[in-house]
Amino acid sequence: MELNSAKGLVMRSTGSWYEVLDLQTNEVHSCRPGGRLRLSGDRSTNPFAVGDVVEFIREPQGEPPTLIARDERRNAIIRRSVNLSKATHVVAANLDRAFLIVTVDSPATSFGFIDRFLVTAEAYGVPTTIVINKIDCCETAELKAKVEELEAVYQSAGYSCLRTSAITSEGLKALKEAMAASGVNLLSGHSGVGKSTLINALVPQLELKTGEVSTSHRKGKHTTTFAEMFHLPNGGFIIDTPGIKGFGIVELNRDSLHHYFPEFFERLPACKFHNCLHRSEPNCAVRAAVESGEIALERYENYLDLYENFDEAGYR
Ligand code: GDP
Ligand code: ZN
Repeated sequence: MELNSAKGLVMRSTGSWYEVLDLQTNEVHSCRPGGRLRLSGDRSTNPFAVGDVVEFIREPQGEPPTLIARDERRNAIIRRSVNLSKATHVVAANLDRAFLIVTVDSPATSFGFIDRFLVTAEAYGVPTTIVINKIDCCETAELKAKVEELEAVYQSAGYSCLRTSAITSEGLKALKEAMAASGVNLLSGHSGVGKSTLINALVPQLELKTGEVSTSHRKGKHTTTFAEMFHLPNGGFIIDTPGIKGFGIVELNRDSLHHYFPEFFERLPACKFHNCLHRSEPNCAVRAAVESGEIALERYENYLDLYENFDEAGYR
């Protein structure tokens, strides 16, 4: 660190300005990137992203602080830049946990979508909690059964599940506690599952635009497609990435796909072949677990489906 510099956390950015939380004083400063950045080998179009831990220098009276460096990222959500084919754009960095918001009705989130998300989250090393939102709408026997099935499938795969309602506040205390405990949290999910409504419920006074607001009013300050980080009153942070449903570029190949199904990976040592793909190999512990019901059939079928239709480009 330089002599008069301080550490901060990037909360949001407009591309040329960065709002940085001073980790010593808890103030938020608008910062500008310095001219000479020590960011070797970086090919992304933005030198700093939401979630980056940065070093900045306080400037004399009236001048905005200057960003001079950032810590190495533990992980990052990366997109291809639209115009520049080789360049990438870092959407958010240093995630401690992902909260995948799903619903069983209007709209129903498919197991396929969830499994695809989980594969990329595992590849990034980001633990995921599945949040079943709109639980207030699941009063019928049929929808109750769907909630229970979803929980059974993902809990048996090793994922924690929460039930919430952004409308009645059911489960929000547990969600807040889980977020406070993990640190920097990504909130993800299909559009319409209630992400904005949940963020509004978790961060009072925020008033993010939700799906109920008519499109003619969508000119407020939160209509940006940039990622933003919010401080939670009880501790921890939420990162909202509007319009982005997954982790983006992941280096995956089809033969390692099964490593990202934790309940499969844990059984691999019991398969006859150390490189078993759990498809038609003899004495496969994964298939045995599917037959005995220890591994959910839906997960296994989605694995086979992802394997058969593996498209590397789909993960880039
Ligand atoms: P987003 O696209 O994921 O940000 O979804 P929104 O937050 O815009 O919510 C989409 C719609 O679902 C809105 O009409 C919300 O009022 C509604 N909604 C969100 N959460 C809940 C919930 O827990 N229960 C019910 N009944 N409706 C909800
Ligand atoms: Zn096997």
